[in-house]
Amino acid sequence: MNRTAAAFLSVVRRRGPAWPFGLGFRVLGCRLSGLPRGLVVEPSEGCTGGCANCHPPVEPVHLDPAVFERWLDARPAQHATIHLAGRHSDPLSSPHLGPLVGLARARSSMVSISTLGLGMTPAVTSLPVDRWLISLPAATGESWMAVKGVNRLQEALEAVRMLRAARTGAMVEVILTKWSGSAGDAPAFARLAQEEGWDNTRIVHAFYDPLGGEYGRQGALALDEPDCPYRRSEDGGVELRLHGALCPHLDYLCLDARGGLRPCPIAGGDAPVLYEPSRESWFEAASWKARKTRRSFRNCTICP
Ligand code: SF4
Repeated sequence: MNRTAAAFLSVVRRRGPAWPFGLGFRVLGCRLSGLPRGLVVEPSEGCTGGCANCHPPVEPVHLDPAVFERWLDARPAQHATIHLAGRHSDPLSSPHLGPLVGLARARSSMVSISTLGLGMTPAVTSLPVDRWLISLPAATGESWMAVKGVNRLQEALEAVRMLRAARTGAMVEVILTKWSGSAGDAPAFARLAQEEGWDNTRIVHAFYDPLGGEYGRQGALALDEPDCPYRRSEDGGVELRLHGALCPHLDYLCLDARGGLRPCPIAGGDAPVLYEPSRESWFEAASWKARKTRRSFRNCTICP
């Protein structure tokens, strides 16, 4: 069964047989009003990763639930899905995660969170989340150390155990992100999945993101892996192996931790940002779809 079908079935089991109708109603409302169906929310600029050589803000900004609610109130149609994720940050560093998830749950049909899992608490595991995506940068302690300069594998494994033991019915997906230091970790990841009894797993490559500091740089990518979306360019930089794919956030917008509405989490500094929660802002943001389709923002050239 593919991931989308598995997620769909797990939410039906959890929320009941009427849930697909609510989802369909919200998708239709978005279509009719010309708005994207999904929203990616950055709860905090802080991070729980504690990686060596990474310097998250000393006083990180956290998304104010009141600002999030103002944006949701101003929207003419409710979202079908709301996904909480970091942008060089991690949702679990937000002190407001509970209220943010509560708002997302009340104003959409599906709530998901992407996180490293570090800093997981029993209170967080009990939040009404439909789908957890736990992103591991490595599958052995040695390669975690090679990638991040620290070894926090056991803490991340414990976070997954806590989520599964909470038995909330939420789907838990564990994802190995391959970096140069963890490029050979697929067999170790398969062993971990078997030992830990993970039902849903996936392997992806890290994004090339020059704004990501130490961990978005070219040297951190697993460029020698045949499935890496990037390769070395003739000028010594990095380029996509394949161009022309659809924008992966075509039907999403992004609300950052400062309350700014953006085209996506990774469009570069030339991308527009709106700070006034209003109906007009939502429609202006919807009009960015044409530029996303043309991939005309700066970081679109390095977006797989
Ligand atoms: S960087 Fe461009 S192509 Fe990538 S998700 Fe953002 S808008 Fe879409």
